[in-house]
Amino acid sequence: MTFVIAEPCVGVKDKACVEVCPVDCIHGADEDDQLYINPEECIDCGACVPACPVEAIFPQEELPEKWGQYLQKNTQYFQK
Ligand code: SF4
Ligand code: SF4
Repeated sequence: MTFVIAEPCVGVKDKACVEVCPVDCIHGADEDDQLYINPEECIDCGACVPACPVEAIFPQEELPEKWGQYLQKNTQYFQK
């Protein structure tokens, strides 16, 4: 399993989640429109979920269907 960052992060990117992640698996460059969670490194602790001011982070299995593509988007980001 992993946690996934979905659409609400787009344009926000305040990095509150980065501050609380114990394994530093949330990444994003200045030119990216959102941040992404590396599924290989995420330990599923859930600490990032309440830290996000716009509720953009979900456990993989609770990702709303309308944002289903974000699972792939997060995973693909780390395959570049
Ligand atoms: S669930 Fe934990 S390990 Fe995974 S991204 Fe969030 S804070 Fe980091
Ligand atoms: S806390 Fe939420 S809005 Fe802020 S960077 Fe992380 S996922 Fe994006």
